[in-house]
Amino acid sequence: VEQRLVTARASVITPRLTLIVIRDITEHERVEQMRRDFVSNTSHELKTPVGAITLLAEAIDSAADDPDQVRRFAARLSAEASRLGQLTSRIMNLSRLQSADDLTELRDVSVDEVVAAAIESQSIAADAAGIAIVRGGARGAYVRGDVQVLTEAIGNLVANAVAYSPPGAQVGVGVKADDRVVEIAVTDRGIGIPEGDQERVFERFYRADQARSRRTGGTGLGLSIVKHAVQRHGGEVELWSRPGRGSTFTVRLSVVEPPENTLVKGSRRT
Ligand code: ADP
Repeated sequence: VEQRLVTARASVITPRLTLIVIRDITEHERVEQMRRDFVSNTSHELKTPVGAITLLAEAIDSAADDPDQVRRFAARLSAEASRLGQLTSRIMNLSRLQSADDLTELRDVSVDEVVAAAIESQSIAADAAGIAIVRGGARGAYVRGDVQVLTEAIGNLVANAVAYSPPGAQVGVGVKADDRVVEIAVTDRGIGIPEGDQERVFERFYRADQARSRRTGGTGLGLSIVKHAVQRHGGEVELWSRPGRGSTFTVRLSVVEPPENTLVKGSRRT
């Protein structure tokens, strides 16, 4: 009887164990597939600037007798090299956000500081296009997070709002906060995003058709970074857009109590 019981138990246990192992392999396969896709998309995207740099270097070499042409090619080479630099650093940031590593610099972060730094990071591009970035709404909210990651995320939204707006337009960055949630909304009156593209724009390297012809400098990684950065902070990002009317990207994060010293100064959230 003892013998039979043991066998019976084993046959109950074994299928369960098998199931767990299968699930584990599937998850492992999925992660492995994502990694392979990432490496393959990335290598493909890197080939374009690397190819251009190689060609321009050869062109400079063969134009050695013509200083004007050398200067022109050198300027284009430098632009391609800086694009390659931007692409590489975005790929590294995205890969860090996608990895299981913890965010290292967690602290209480002032949303006002994040928004101000994000706007500042785009001021040269905005000035060049005659675009005013208007900051409105609540002050004094704090979130728990990595200030650099959050600033890059909001900066990417402001960069897009500027890039996909007509010259002279206005871009808004509005903040709303209550005791639980802070919302940071970046609004433009630019080209907008067709409905069919709205989910896909958060995928890495995805660019809507209009954008591809309009803004050659884009990497297609900005919104993917935004999505992962916000998710790593336990938040969410929402998109409203109408072609020809504009877009609003809203980031929602949980708030934390302002640090003690700001309470003492009386600058409590309103
Ligand atoms: P990119 O470097 O191409 O801007 P992103 O990942 O930041 O890459 O954005 C992906 C695509 O989403 C863009 O190529 C563009 O088609 C669309 N997009 C993003 N933000 C806006 C916006 N504010 N207005 C219109 N289209 C946008």
